Amino acid sequence: MKVLVPVKRVVDYNVKVRAKSDGSGVDIANAKMSMNPFDEIALEEAMRLKESGKVTEVIAISCGITQCQETLRTAMAIGADRAILVETTADIEPLAVAKLLKALADKEQPQLIILGKQAIDDDCNQTGQMLAALLGWPQATFASKVVLDDGKVTVTREVDGGLETLALTLPAIITTDLRLNEPRYVTLPNIMKAKKKQLDTINPGTLGVDVTARLKTLKVVEPLKRTAGVIVPDIATLVSKLRNEAKVI
Ligand code: AMP
Repeated sequence: MKVLVPVKRVVDYNVKVRAKSDGSGVDIANAKMSMNPFDEIALEEAMRLKESGKVTEVIAISCGITQCQETLRTAMAIGADRAILVETTADIEPLAVAKLLKALADKEQPQLIILGKQAIDDDCNQTGQMLAALLGWPQATFASKVVLDDGKVTVTREVDGGLETLALTLPAIITTDLRLNEPRYVTLPNIMKAKKKQLDTINPGTLGVDVTARLKTLKVVEPLKRTAGVIVPDIATLVSKLRNEAKVI
């Protein structure tokens, strides 16, 4: 049984990004890039399923520029068997990614696709859901536990005020939440081994997908800077400031 794991190359979560001065976007020139953290969790889950003998092949997929190859090599160092880069310089949105993944799913015929619940750069939380709709497959988003059995997968999800458990027939889509697992570290020998693994590159045209952007960014601005606080001498002054200056009571 095959599992596809889409992995996105994003600005590393430790990097503090800044808006460009012309407001046209976020400045990521020279920023450290990494695999989207939720995708590391997705890949870890796929690896655990493979190690338990329930999965035979894990394929990592990335859509984007040539440098996404680095993310795919990391995915293969973690344990993915092979990788596919859908290479494009276009700024691809979740719908385009979902269409590309659908085309690859039609080709590869996996039983499971595990995505991150969201990419930490665009925070869209849309790709998995759109892909499930395009494929007509059942979906379980925000998974915190995954149990794979013959022909079905049982997924526990964290919802407001408790846990929800869903049973899905395969093929199915899962998106990962933070508490699903703790991803392993990449070891040097595995980085070396990953260099020899198969990495295929295709372009969106070959898959018959138009990746033209449908959204237009009007403006990106930094959040307002917090102003310095003041120390008040007594409670009466505090209450007076809250009432008359902040007008919150
Ligand atoms: P989003 O809907 O953009 O928040 O992304 C949700 C998930 O879709 C990510 O965690 C990835 O698993 C997948 N994904 C989104 N964009 C890409 C991309 N360009 N390449 C590979 N996977 C992607």
